[in-house]
Amino acid sequence: MFEPVIDFVRDIYKTDQFIPLHEPRFWGKEKEYLNNCIDSTFVSSVGKYVDRFEKEIADFTGAKYAVATVNGTAALHIALLLAGIGHGDEVITQALTFVATCNAINYTGAHPILVDVDKDTLGMSPQKLEEFLEANTEIKKGKCYNTKTGRAIKAVVPMHTFGLPAKLEELQKLCNKYNLKLIEDAAESLGSYRNDRHTGTLGWIGTLSFNGNKIITTGGGGMILTNNAELAKRAKHITTTAKVPHKWEYRHDQVAYNYRLPNINAALGCAQMEQLPTFIKHKRELAESYRVFFENQGIQFVTEPSGTRSNYWLNAVLLKDREERDSFLKETNEKGVMTRPAWQLMNELSMYKGAQCGDLSNSEWLEARIVNIPSSVSK
Ligand SMILES: *Cc1c(COP(=O)(O)O)cnc(C)c1O
Repeated sequence: MFEPVIDFVRDIYKTDQFIPLHEPRFWGKEKEYLNNCIDSTFVSSVGKYVDRFEKEIADFTGAKYAVATVNGTAALHIALLLAGIGHGDEVITQALTFVATCNAINYTGAHPILVDVDKDTLGMSPQKLEEFLEANTEIKKGKCYNTKTGRAIKAVVPMHTFGLPAKLEELQKLCNKYNLKLIEDAAESLGSYRNDRHTGTLGWIGTLSFNGNKIITTGGGGMILTNNAELAKRAKHITTTAKVPHKWEYRHDQVAYNYRLPNINAALGCAQMEQLPTFIKHKRELAESYRVFFENQGIQFVTEPSGTRSNYWLNAVLLKDREERDSFLKETNEKGVMTRPAWQLMNELSMYKGAQCGDLSNSEWLEARIVNIPSSVSK
């Protein structure tokens, strides 16, 4: 039934072998930089590639400061800690996200609250967030409290799903009104913009991931983005075991983390950064050819919301219902074209079953219909 889809994907990647959902491309100076790094012996926690990678990410995104971390989950964990989130606090995120978002909240001792996403952005819905805040919170001495649990709500963490930018301006307005910090999980959206501003740089703080399946990879890695010099300094300190800078003394002034990005991973990142504009260009061309194809097939292809430019990290289609989704998944995967449903909603995972939720009708509707299709750079 989905034979034309399989043929179309095979034609893009020009292979009759297995086609993965997303694989990295090492078409630049990766080996050269890795060799340099090994020759220098600085493969671990310090080195010139870390500084260079941070600067390149800052320049690319327009963030004033970028602090590299060992992965994207660690970057989120630190962003939440810097926001003053700790035991017994609450943080609002979206039900449709990768589990890392909720896990990072959990690491701080805080409780996630799950709200709905919008059908056009697949990211946090400002309207649903507002409904939740109106029905469940009160402001006391400038702080936002959950009237159901009595706990303080401190931050809102939207995620830019598959690279599609969420409605940040409206989310920021609500955060201002309720005195909440806006923390952007931009793990999937390096190269995505909202009104010409890079995702991850509009909120109070933002985070990126360079896991193997992301648009560029360092093997494993992440980044904290901020425009605040003091925050950047604290981020560096707490991710580097809080060692007080000194030529030979070993002093640490707080409990902190070894969340540094190794120099050898940053070397890979520097080579990948040189190719990022090309990757984005190719991904946007791939998305456009998928869009035209699926339009003719009568299948809805997910496109960037107006006012945004998506990196089209992972392309997605929406099938008619769960049944059609399941037959699409079965047929494509059986024929060696990898496709994947959306993540199970966070409130359905055993760890987060007890989380307080807003109305999740859009998330449930989407979860039954979304399928990601092969999205590796094709040429
Ligand atoms: C990839 C990803 C992360 C971070 O993942 P790491 O593997 O720890 O780098 C966080 N949130 C979302 C939504 C992601 O897709």
